[in-house]
Amino acid sequence: MDTLTTIVLKPGEADRIVAGHPWIYGTEILRVTAPTADGELVQVKDHRQRFLGVGFFNAKSKIHVRLLSPDRVEANAAFFEERIRAALAVRQQFMPQATSFRVVNAESDFLSGLIVDKYEDVLVVQISSLGMDQRKAIIVPVLQKIFAPRAIYERSDMASRKFEGLGDASGLLAGELAGPIAVNLNGLKFETDLIAGHKTGMYLDQQANYQAVSQFAQGAQVLDCFSFLGGFGLHAARAGAAHVHLLDQSADAIAASERNAATNGLGATCSFAQANVFDWLKDNTAVKPHERVIPRFDLIILDPPSFTRNRASVPDALRGYKEIHLRALKLLKPGGTLATFCCSHHVDTTTFQDVILSAAYDTRHVLRRTAIFAQSPDHPVIPMIPETEYLKGFAFQVVR
Ligand code: SAH
Repeated sequence: MDTLTTIVLKPGEADRIVAGHPWIYGTEILRVTAPTADGELVQVKDHRQRFLGVGFFNAKSKIHVRLLSPDRVEANAAFFEERIRAALAVRQQFMPQATSFRVVNAESDFLSGLIVDKYEDVLVVQISSLGMDQRKAIIVPVLQKIFAPRAIYERSDMASRKFEGLGDASGLLAGELAGPIAVNLNGLKFETDLIAGHKTGMYLDQQANYQAVSQFAQGAQVLDCFSFLGGFGLHAARAGAAHVHLLDQSADAIAASERNAATNGLGATCSFAQANVFDWLKDNTAVKPHERVIPRFDLIILDPPSFTRNRASVPDALRGYKEIHLRALKLLKPGGTLATFCCSHHVDTTTFQDVILSAAYDTRHVLRRTAIFAQSPDHPVIPMIPETEYLKGFAFQVVR
């Protein structure tokens, strides 16, 4: 272990690392004791030579070191097996019924740069750091040993890889996979395209919330905006909604959600429209002067994609969030519920709620907050690593 290159931090830069954050930026480094190849394991010390941990080095990235451990570990199969089994134990503890879930969520599971999703008997791997990318040949056999999956598919096609000097990499790593698979979430089946679908195939981070929001659906006229495969809408239909209307701008998503409704025997309760939600809400809240919008829904779900890519785009994103809330509120009956989500890390919970309240002020609604939602437990939040927290949501009931 003494042969590892040492990265010495500038005075004052060690505290965040000692507290558990795994990223060391190039600007925080005082010196590197030997020439080091990108991707190599290095040890990190503070300016007084106190050992802080080991991690993967990459001078190409702004994040020069991604720490793996505060101990002198080796990045070998035994290390990955222990970490992945520990991550799996968290899921088994908090989502004991789930058969599909995120097994490893990068920083949330102390494996920066590695995501592993389990979709029934298939694993999807997403790698975003050079250090992890170089250890694929170690990680894949460990996954086979723990899960014995039918297939392991790589979906490393995110833009962020270029910051690590990596190109896109997608394809089969082990086993066989042909066509979409049926993924079971809370007892409902969703046809999921692991090869070309969004993210690694699905928004697993909403699994717990599908169930939680469906408690407001009994007998309700429901509108599911940004419905994708129908996660919220179909859970609402199963929970006894009178009718669910699902909206998404993607023709493929709408077609898949229609098939999913049929597969689950919920087709008669659901209708579908391929539409831009902004346009649809505008058209459906347009009135002539001196007319009022007639509210038609008891439950409206807003689960848009992140409107922000960075901090600079937050003001535009907030205008977008405000607009859809304003129009959704006009369509909600008294006593109805708005279940709304924001998956942007750059918009915090307070800011998000303020946008909703500002929309409610404009429509002269008073809201009762009846639930607070977060990402499902397979996307653990480590508060010392603020980047691990991104999904928040609320249920608001219209008091008047
Ligand atoms: N609620 C979904 C996830 C939504 S992800 C779930 O739980 O699985 C965002 C979805 O919004 C995608 O399916 C995308 O096609 C759709 N989308 C993005 N912008 C849109 C817009 N302006 N109007 C309608 N749909 C949009």
